[in-house]
Amino acid sequence: MSPTEQHTKIVLDKIVKCDFCKNFALFDAKTKAGQWAWMCKDCYPEKRYYSTLGLGKGQKIHYIINPKEGDPLLSEAMYEYLDRLQKMPEDERREEIKAMLEDA
Ligand SMILES: [Zn+2]
Repeated sequence: MSPTEQHTKIVLDKIVKCDFCKNFALFDAKTKAGQWAWMCKDCYPEKRYYSTLGLGKGQKIHYIINPKEGDPLLSEAMYEYLDRLQKMPEDERREEIKAMLEDA
């Protein structure tokens, strides 16, 4: 991993939700209000302060999770996320999954 990559990614072992809409978060980034927040794919383009990732700007979340651990928060968030995925039109679902796996 290059030094640049280290500042564009955050590794988590727990699912976190977007601070704005409670969807599955994909970014930890600085907001226009100056604070940092968890953001989902939909809120990130609207709420982020910087348009790029990096040190002091924002990181993409890279999840390393073991769904067998039975964490209630993980189960709940995963269930909601899968439910949302199922309701999406197929092209949107493909995009969502692609975004999730992109740098896994
Ligand atoms: Zn959101």
